[in-house]
Amino acid sequence: MDFTATHGLRWRDPGVERVPAPADLARWFIEAGLTAMPVPVSASTHRSALDLREALYRLMRGRVSQEPLDRRAIDVVNGWAAKAPPAVQLTADGSAKRLVAPTAGKLLTFVARDGVDLLGGPHADRLGECSRDTCTLLYLDTSRAGSRRWCSMEACGSRHKMARYRRRDAV
Ligand SMILES: [Zn+2]
Repeated sequence: MDFTATHGLRWRDPGVERVPAPADLARWFIEAGLTAMPVPVSASTHRSALDLREALYRLMRGRVSQEPLDRRAIDVVNGWAAKAPPAVQLTADGSAKRLVAPTAGKLLTFVARDGVDLLGGPHADRLGECSRDTCTLLYLDTSRAGSRRWCSMEACGSRHKMARYRRRDAV
């Protein structure tokens, strides 16, 4: 789901691409905590990654709006999820986990498998889309009441609140 957020403002055409180049995807892998060490990303893996991202987005968005799921998107996600993820091992002192020779392609299997776990798991009904008109980010509502409305309180929730205060001032 975090990966789908690298394409923002989808209502605009085009939206905002936050990983426009292979190097940006390499950075995202680290920011997302998928790997601690940088991995090289080829142009073709970058293209495939964006294809996977859009497939995940279509499926998650489809769940939110309860539309029939896109078969091609399912095939794309399943194709990645079926590939082997990087091997893992303990560090020499046994205190931490390390990926063995991670590659960009192998890291994408993590993303796809997470997507399968989410969409095919018990929390899929907790997917939502931010209520702010101009935001298209998805969230997973982990609140007990299931009352979440914003992608993040800091970004969209507080802006909504501020707008409400301003309106109140104007009255
Ligand atoms: Zn938002």
